[in-house]
Amino acid sequence: MELIHTDIDELPSIVQKLRKSFHSNLTKPLRYRKEQLGNLYRMIDENEQAFCDALYKDLHKHKYESLLGELAWVKQEALDTTSSLKNWAEPNYVKVNLGYMMNKCHVRKEPVGIVLIIGTWNYPVNLLFMPFIGAIAAGCTVILKPSELSVHTSALISELFPKYLDQDAYRIVSGGAVETTALLKHRFDHIFYTGSGKVGKIIMSAAAEHLTPVTLELGGKSPTIVASDVDISILAKRIIWGTMYNCGQTCIAPDYMICERSVQDAFIKEAPKVLEQFYGLDPQSSTSRYCRIINKSHFDRLQNLLNQTKGRIVHGGNFDKEDLYISPTIVADVPKEDKLMEDEIFGPIFPIVVVENLDEAIEYVNSKDIPLALYPFSKSDKTVKHILDNTRSGGVVINDCLMHFTVKDLPFGGQGPSGIGSYHGKRSFDTFSHERSVMTTPFAMEKLVKARYPPYTEFNMKL
Ligand code: NAD
Repeated sequence: MELIHTDIDELPSIVQKLRKSFHSNLTKPLRYRKEQLGNLYRMIDENEQAFCDALYKDLHKHKYESLLGELAWVKQEALDTTSSLKNWAEPNYVKVNLGYMMNKCHVRKEPVGIVLIIGTWNYPVNLLFMPFIGAIAAGCTVILKPSELSVHTSALISELFPKYLDQDAYRIVSGGAVETTALLKHRFDHIFYTGSGKVGKIIMSAAAEHLTPVTLELGGKSPTIVASDVDISILAKRIIWGTMYNCGQTCIAPDYMICERSVQDAFIKEAPKVLEQFYGLDPQSSTSRYCRIINKSHFDRLQNLLNQTKGRIVHGGNFDKEDLYISPTIVADVPKEDKLMEDEIFGPIFPIVVVENLDEAIEYVNSKDIPLALYPFSKSDKTVKHILDNTRSGGVVINDCLMHFTVKDLPFGGQGPSGIGSYHGKRSFDTFSHERSVMTTPFAMEKLVKARYPPYTEFNMKL
């Protein structure tokens, strides 16, 4: 399957068309927004099998994971947003003090304008359309740029999208860095980017040229801090699931575990049992369809990382480049300065760092960039509070992982190097809305307001 790239000479007219549509108020009526959300829902619903097939070709995703992690969410978010939209879009009247009792003050929720959404490949449906839902709901016009790496899914999106969504308001631009670079020369009213921090910096610098606000959904090394009082078999199930889901290619995957030696020793005994239970003895031929690495360059990156580790590979470590397969791999006794501990792993390799105590673990986590997610495991509320009080992260799940992403009323996003801004549910609507403050002053109030006019007298000074 080849992705047909959008001709970059067409970009100026696409941007201009969407800007014109925005100023014509096409996308502002709530009825229109709900209709388009319904069209997006239908696009996913009526082509569910085609999406599952494309996701399988790109990442070897099991149908259950495609439905659970991609399609069902987008559909549910579209439904929830449609039912809440009227409420979210209502103006907020604010309380004023006595001196303003004749004024009316309210906040209008207005679409920011024309928006650029740049998607990534690990959840190519979810991470493109979840922000899109917020932008439709807010009343924006939108250009979406799917990732060129998830080629089958992006090609399918490019084919289906114009059949369902109004092309006067929403357009797909296909391609990679060249097309994105060309797009970024244009002025947008908001840019929403999901991907690496490296490209995030490029996006933010381009946006700065036009003073365009950005939402950056980035990544980083999300730690699992484990106290010694945990239930090891539950820990192993939850962490192995989160780490190996989508073959570790999840921005909030537990990137590493940091714990005392007794916890590591118990974990490495338990983890192989869990892996066998999940994927059988040979994950490569698993009927649970253990995923594959997206492409050869990410495959090589992961193999190089494992070749350079000074840790002990206690499970896995098998590679098959033709099949882009890397077996679930656990590395114990990983030194703090190890190659595996430099950047986000984004693959099925799980390092364990051993420390003397919890405070050493906290100190280590704090010595690194603020992570996108943090996973403390302990039976003690006091221990969990101590971890939360002494660390920072985009989000937290206590005694589990990943699941905060699925709660629509929890804003999802990072902090600093792991991201700027957040979305999901109402927060997505807010991201693409401008809160316009409006104050009404009746002509009849002239007698009351005259105190502010010069020339200033003794009377003014007494006020
Ligand atoms: P990436 O940053 O390379 O690519 C993402 C998008 O940027 C693609 O659409 C691509 O076409 C575009 N792009 C690539 N190079 C560009 C350039 N030079 N100029 C302009 N645009 C360019 O994606 P990646 O690094 O493969 O993605 C993995 C990263 O994304 C990980 O760090 C992961 O944690 C992060 N991520 C974050 C989230 C989140 O929700 N916070 C979700 C998924 C992935």
